[in-house]
Amino acid sequence: MRVLIRTPEPRCANDIADVLRVFLGALEYTLEAGDGADHILTVTETRREERVYCHARISGGLSGEGENAYSPAPDALVEMRLHKRALKLAVYSAMKAATGIRPPWGALTGIRPTRLFYAELRQRKTMEEAERDIQALFDLREDKAALLREIVGIQRLFPDPADDEVGLYVGIPFCATRCSYCSFLSGEIGSGKLVEPYVDALLTEIEAAERLIREAGLRVTSVYMGGGTPTALPEGELRRVLERLAPLSAGQEFTVEAGRPDTITEGKLKAIREAGAKRISVNPQTAHDETLRRIGRAHTTAQTEEAYRMARDMGFEDVNMDLIAGLPGENEDMFRETLDWLRGLYPDSVTVHTLSIKHSSLLHLWQESLPDGDMVGRMLDLGRETAHRMGMRAYYLYRQKYMAGNLENTACAQPGCECLYNIRMMEETGHVLALGAGGISKRVWPDGGRIRRAPNVGNIEEYIARVDEMVERKRALWLDQG
Ligand code: SF4
Repeated sequence: MRVLIRTPEPRCANDIADVLRVFLGALEYTLEAGDGADHILTVTETRREERVYCHARISGGLSGEGENAYSPAPDALVEMRLHKRALKLAVYSAMKAATGIRPPWGALTGIRPTRLFYAELRQRKTMEEAERDIQALFDLREDKAALLREIVGIQRLFPDPADDEVGLYVGIPFCATRCSYCSFLSGEIGSGKLVEPYVDALLTEIEAAERLIREAGLRVTSVYMGGGTPTALPEGELRRVLERLAPLSAGQEFTVEAGRPDTITEGKLKAIREAGAKRISVNPQTAHDETLRRIGRAHTTAQTEEAYRMARDMGFEDVNMDLIAGLPGENEDMFRETLDWLRGLYPDSVTVHTLSIKHSSLLHLWQESLPDGDMVGRMLDLGRETAHRMGMRAYYLYRQKYMAGNLENTACAQPGCECLYNIRMMEETGHVLALGAGGISKRVWPDGGRIRRAPNVGNIEEYIARVDEMVERKRALWLDQG
C-alpha cells in the first residue's frame, strides 16, 4: 500500500507514517503527488488565538478528518515535541474516524510507553492522575493504561542507579540453528571455526572493560549474558567466558540466557552456577511441537521440560521462560494450552512476546496461518492473567515495529525475581557497558536523561578483526569529558 502525505512539515512524515501503519499495516509513503497512491493524507496548520491547530484529512478509498491543537512553547525542543504530538494526534483522529478502529495503544507508536507515564509523574501527578491523563491524551485502552501503571508501580520499588553503577552486557552472537522469525545479529555455529577467535576477542574486551571500570570509578551492579544463545557455545568456550566474568559480577545479579533448550547440558549449567549466575532463561516459545517445527526451532517441548528440570535440580532458583503470542498456525486455545503447561512448570518469571515479523517473505509464507491482531491481543490478556494467578507482576514492557495487532512484549515476575538489568536497560536509566558483536554501550547523564552511545560492529568477523577499536570506543565514551 502506498499513501501520499501532503504536509507543511515533511520532517514529521515518518512520525505521521507510523500512525498510519497502526491502522493500515505495512505501507510506503510518498511526499510527491503523481507517484501513485492508494490513499491521500492532507495535513494543514492554522494559528488562531495563540494556538496552533493541526488538521488531518484522509481521502481516496477512506474518508475521515481529525484535529488537534497546542500552545507554542518558547523552548525550541519543547515546541518541536508538542508540534509533533499534535500532528500525530490529528492524524490518529482522522484514521479512527475513517476506519472505526480503536487500537489498543491508541495513538502511541513509541517503543517505551512507560516513558510517557513517567513524564506525567514528573508533573507532580499521582499514579491515578497519570493513568487517567495518559489514557485520555492518547486514547489508550483502559487495560493498557492500567498495565503501564502496574509496571511503573513495580519499577519505582527499585532505586534509580547511582552515577557510578553500570550494567555489563556480554553478547554471544551464535545459535545452534536459526529460527525463521529471527531478526537478531546471530549466526549459526556452522562449522564452528569462528567460535574460538570470537571468544578470544571477547576476552580481550572483557579484560579491557575491567581496566576501564577501575579507571572510570564504576561499579558493576548487574551482568547479562545474552545473544544469540550463550549456551550454543561448546562447554569449554562457555566456561572460558564465564570464568573471566565471575570476578566482575562479584555477587551481583548475573543472568545467562540459555534460550534454546536443545543447547543446555548439565556441564554448561554447572559452569554457569560456578561462575555465580543465579538467573537463567529457558525459552519454550510454545508447548506445541508442530509450531516449533514450523518456526524452525530445532527442539521439542519434552526437551524444554528436561532442560528446566535439570536447571531446578542443579539449584537454579530464578528461571525465566519466554513465550510468543501470535505464532503461525496457533489459536487462542493452543496458547491457553501452552499457558497451562507453563503453570505446571512454574517458572519465576515469564516474558510474553508478540510475534514480530521483519522479513516480508515470511509474512507472505505464513499469511494464511497467522492469528489476527484481535486474537493475539486476547492471547496477551490470557498470558497476563496466568502470570497474575501465579503471583507475578508486570515489571517492564516494550513495543516493536511489525508486531501483530500493534501490541507489546511484557515481562512478569514473582516479587524479588525482577531482572534489574532489564529494567534499567529498557527504561534507559542506567549506564550499560556492552561487550561483543552488536553490543551498544550507553552512558546516561542524570541531567534530563542525555544519552551517548558507543556501538560495537555487528558482523562477527569484523568484530574479531577490530576488537581493539571497540575497546577504544568505550574508553572514549567514559573517559572523555562531556
Ligand atoms: S534462539 Fe533467538 S537469537 Fe537464536 S536464532 Fe532463535 S530467535 Fe534468533
